[in-house]
Amino acid sequence: TKSRAEGQGDQNLLKDVKNVIAVASGKGGVGKSTVSVNLAVALAQTGAKVGLVDTDIYGPSIPTMFDIHERPNINTQRKLVPLEKYGVKLLSMGFLVKQDEAVVWRGPMVSSAVKQFLSETDWGELDYLILDLPPGTGDIQLTIVQSVPLTAAVIVSTPQTVALDDARKGVAMFGKVNVPVLGIIENMAYFTPPDLPDKKYHIFGKDGAKNLAEKMGVPFLGEVPIEQQLREGGDSGKPIVVEDSTALSSKAFTELSQRV
Ligand code: ADP
Repeated sequence: TKSRAEGQGDQNLLKDVKNVIAVASGKGGVGKSTVSVNLAVALAQTGAKVGLVDTDIYGPSIPTMFDIHERPNINTQRKLVPLEKYGVKLLSMGFLVKQDEAVVWRGPMVSSAVKQFLSETDWGELDYLILDLPPGTGDIQLTIVQSVPLTAAVIVSTPQTVALDDARKGVAMFGKVNVPVLGIIENMAYFTPPDLPDKKYHIFGKDGAKNLAEKMGVPFLGEVPIEQQLREGGDSGKPIVVEDSTALSSKAFTELSQRV
């Protein structure tokens, strides 16, 4: 990957991390966390040193998607020690609050919590730190992408018009802060019923994200089909790239990991 966007954020922050990759989406529920988790684990499977931060303070998904519900320790330097699973160092607001407790902070507190997550955590040396951003392109997201020294961003969208409209804003947001967009990945691209392996149903529309990528002049990073197994893996804390390397979604995530 390339070097970090120049002049962006605090250059001392995360200086032992080679690549800081943001995974973003305009809309919620399009599979941003699913992509973040499987991308992180796929990178770790190549032998890279990988961390994953859930910056979605209001709706953290990482604890469930990894089935980890512990509290991180504090080391002698008074830094948080990330939890670790499938070779990925993990940090989420979900580790710090009770499962049924809601975080009711205003935007500036969220941005400073995220910054603290990054600066007050003992990440050690990492090849990749994946940032699962909160959905949208509001103040919180803008503050995060401005204050964190990002290397690049991946945008997740479904082929649906409402998702694409927001994905376009996502691409524009990174442009504004000079962070290169690695490309757009199309999630929920189609559904193939297991008993009709030659069929493809384009439930959310066809090629929407592919066309958007072309229009915006950013690379298309592939398509992830709708798969029951992928959803089940997310809910049970067993990422598909660990559970079944032959699944089509698994292959798409592995290919994505080769492009970051
Ligand atoms: P976001 O982070 O964008 O809010 P999530 O990754 O949490 O979205 O995904 C929302 C829900 O959809 C989760 O339950 C997840 O397991 C499921 N999901 C995401 N992508 C797929 C897919 N390609 N096939 C099946 N289920 C999916």
